[in-house]
Amino acid sequence: MKMLMYDQVKHCVALLSSVTPLIHDMCINSCVAYTGPLLVLEACPECGEPHYNPIKLAVSNGEIKVTHQEFHTMPIGPQLQALWHHGDTAEHMWYCDIHTEQILAELDHCDGVISSYDDFFHGCDCLKAVKDECIKAGDAILMFSIDSAQLYQSKASDCWIYIWVVFNLNPSTGC
Ligand SMILES: [Zn+2]
Repeated sequence: MKMLMYDQVKHCVALLSSVTPLIHDMCINSCVAYTGPLLVLEACPECGEPHYNPIKLAVSNGEIKVTHQEFHTMPIGPQLQALWHHGDTAEHMWYCDIHTEQILAELDHCDGVISSYDDFFHGCDCLKAVKDECIKAGDAILMFSIDSAQLYQSKASDCWIYIWVVFNLNPSTGC
């Protein structure tokens, strides 16, 4: 069997999962991403570094614009679709619904007392959201965790990192 190159593996994974990154240009010093009103800028408004590789720009008489650096975002929507698309992971995605039904049944049979509180789904806010039908069967239950990092001593926090945690999945599966 022929061994695939790294780029070929990335292409195959993207093809099979439909999970592809959103790619934006960014400053080589990580000051800004060239999105929205910054998209048209030829240089970074923070540090002045050129948006595009000046050598390639000069050689091509301004025709070829190659960014110094790219920023990749993996959107959560296609990742959730990929989880529901495969039989094994789709089965794991029902963990939230099955577990919540068991908790609600135990609450009904035990006068509102649960024998153990060992998961997110035991929380009264989550159970109320299910009872009020704000959370319905098959809904994605996500936790959004965000934090900032100060990259330069003299600046305020200027880099934000975030992750999504999919609570639908059974934590014991390691998905
Ligand atoms: Zn910059």
